[in-house]
Amino acid sequence: MEETTIDYIIVGAGIAGTSLALELHKRNQKLLIVDEFKKNTSSRVAAGMLSPIVPRNVQKTWKCFDIFPNVYDYYREWEDTLNEKFIYQIPGLQIHKNSSHTKNWRKRSRERGFDILLKDIPREENIYPLKMPFGGSLNLLSGRLDVQNFMNSAHLFLKSKGQIFKNEACNYNQVIEQPNYVNYQNYKAKGVIFCEGYGVRKNPWYSIIPLNPSSGDLFTYEIKDLDPSYIYKMKEWIIPLGGDKWLAGSTYHFENDDETIYNEDAEKMLKQFKEWVKQPIKIIDHKKGVRPTVHGRRPFLGSRKDHPRLFVYNGLGSKGSSLVSFFSPQYAEHLTEGIEIIEEVDINRLFTSGSEHTYQEN
Ligand SMILES: Cc1cc2nc3c(=O)[nH]c(=O)nc-3n(C[C@H](O)[C@H](O)[C@H](O)COP(=O)(O)OP(=O)(O)OC[C@H]3O[C@@H](n4cnc5c(N)ncnc54)[C@H](O)[C@@H]3O)c2cc1C
Repeated sequence: MEETTIDYIIVGAGIAGTSLALELHKRNQKLLIVDEFKKNTSSRVAAGMLSPIVPRNVQKTWKCFDIFPNVYDYYREWEDTLNEKFIYQIPGLQIHKNSSHTKNWRKRSRERGFDILLKDIPREENIYPLKMPFGGSLNLLSGRLDVQNFMNSAHLFLKSKGQIFKNEACNYNQVIEQPNYVNYQNYKAKGVIFCEGYGVRKNPWYSIIPLNPSSGDLFTYEIKDLDPSYIYKMKEWIIPLGGDKWLAGSTYHFENDDETIYNEDAEKMLKQFKEWVKQPIKIIDHKKGVRPTVHGRRPFLGSRKDHPRLFVYNGLGSKGSSLVSFFSPQYAEHLTEGIEIIEEVDINRLFTSGSEHTYQEN
């Protein structure tokens, strides 16, 4: 078969592979994108919630101000190019559970740097549609990416621009790394970037990533007569989808990669919501996927020094939708211009002596 020369091969078209493909396409790179396109992969299930606040101890997320509020402009630009709507900035109404909860959030919202993220809602302020006996907080920069719509429209766009898609599982035996290029079947490229999410556990070069998978359930609910101007959140959250539909979630089954859907998880979640959502709730859909969470909770980018043409993009955990807006453009610059990857996310941290996850090849 005749050899086809391209720039890069991307294995895995979840949010990592798809956003990187868009960024590389923008930089005039010719691509082959390989994926099995299974239904319940992490990005196909994900809620796409964006929030600069971690509720536990009311902290800012990692790289908060590198990502927020820029993440909205990032996706709005892609909306213009792809001619689709998928990004929504929606304030989050955090309902306080008890007085100590109220105290923590209040204290934090008065700290420097939190003023553009949070706004206190006093108990007596009664303009919100749910009862808040302990008051609440407004998470001003929260929102949602419709991940499925973003990925589907990106794939259509990339195909229409002549980028090549292959619907198959990557056959690792056919990845042949040479000093100056890589062959995969009849393709010759500068490198392969593995963006396989939880699938990386089977990758011969990158299964060294310290995965700590967490499976999660996500529900679509029908809730009538609830004002769709907010994402509502106690511990669990509901996001307006339009009409009477709401996205609800999500569960965390830590250190667990079981993809089976259990009714008891649906019942448990419903019970939790009924404690604070007074309107009747009907379950319309229930999905489950495995998040590619890792020990240390930082992504992995770059290539191993002993396999310089085989790259990885993984470890996005439960924050893929926001993290890619910051890392995919940087990664594309790294691949096309040689701009260095920041140390915190460099795969080679696994090989540094003294690293918690030092890897010894024998
Ligand atoms: C229930 C749930 C709720 C979530 N909610 C949110 C949220 O609200 N906000 C948020 O930011 N994130 C959320 N996430 C997490 C987010 O989805 C992940 O961070 C993100 O999906 C990771 O994307 P990825 O591209 O790295 O991996 P994936 O989405 O898993 O994509 C990997 C792709 O690689 C393909 N692949 C794997 N191995 C191979 C192979 N050998 N050959 C070919 N193809 C292969 C797979 O088919 C898949 O398409 C949620 C996840 C779950 C499960």
